[in-house]
Amino acid sequence: MKSLKILFLAICVMSSLGAQQPEWCKKLPRPAYSKLERVPTADPWFEVYKVRPGVFAIYEPRQLEEVISYLVIGGDRALLFDTGMGISNIQAVVTGLTKLPVSVVNSHTHNDHVGDNWRFSDVYGMDTDFTRANARGSKEDAQAELAPEEICGSLPTEFDAKGYTTKPFHIRHWLHDGDTIDLGGRTLKVIGTPGHTPDAIALLDEKNGLLFTGDSFYLGPIYLYRPETDLGAYAASMQKLAALAPRLQLLLPSHNVPVADPSYLSKVVAAFQQVRRGEVKPVVTDGKHEYLFDGFSFLMR
Ligand SMILES: [Zn+2]
Repeated sequence: MKSLKILFLAICVMSSLGAQQPEWCKKLPRPAYSKLERVPTADPWFEVYKVRPGVFAIYEPRQLEEVISYLVIGGDRALLFDTGMGISNIQAVVTGLTKLPVSVVNSHTHNDHVGDNWRFSDVYGMDTDFTRANARGSKEDAQAELAPEEICGSLPTEFDAKGYTTKPFHIRHWLHDGDTIDLGGRTLKVIGTPGHTPDAIALLDEKNGLLFTGDSFYLGPIYLYRPETDLGAYAASMQKLAALAPRLQLLLPSHNVPVADPSYLSKVVAAFQQVRRGEVKPVVTDGKHEYLFDGFSFLMR
């Protein structure tokens, strides 16, 4: 009898926990991850995957953005492409993966990509007013990321949710379209891809056929609704990236899944042209228009 009661209680607790889980979170892990090489890390907030030799994806699956930062290892130094949410300590994860000096470059300066920039002394930024404004830090966007429907499971125990902000950070080097960053035996080229934001970039590792696409492309809804988004610039930037596709082996996007086929770039260009010509009927949710395609969508005003 007693054990039945306990069983009943256990079922109640489990089903109430289940009810609290947001829909997106019930679909995790995404199937693509089962094919990737997982690397152990001490902090349960992060999952680390070795995607290519010397390329680690640092994934934050417990927050709706499912943001992915990348650690790229060269012969002399390493580059961290984004620093994530700043909810837990990405610097500690990076230190566990490399002893080389680490420089930070951001795919763009939205809060979910610059959260731990403040921990690093060698930070590169695009030479734009948008970048300078975001480097001053902010609170509102950071706080919105903690809404109950945005969190999957629990936040780190030592995390101060009420005090959570995007902390200000210092930019030491200014970047421009076409600049190259030499890591020693591995060179990354900065490709300006304004659109999602004015300071959006992709990083090209030409020798290895890798393109880190930032938020210009990932599998999932691509956000194109914020006031800083420029749709004409986005179309031009995607054309620029699609032109690189014949030389690429892999796309490494900044959300959801760290691997995608380069053939997606020309699909995005064609799909976005259809949207802009008014040929696609959107699904309207919460006042936003979502244009759905195979594997990705555009979320617009
Ligand atoms: Zn963004």
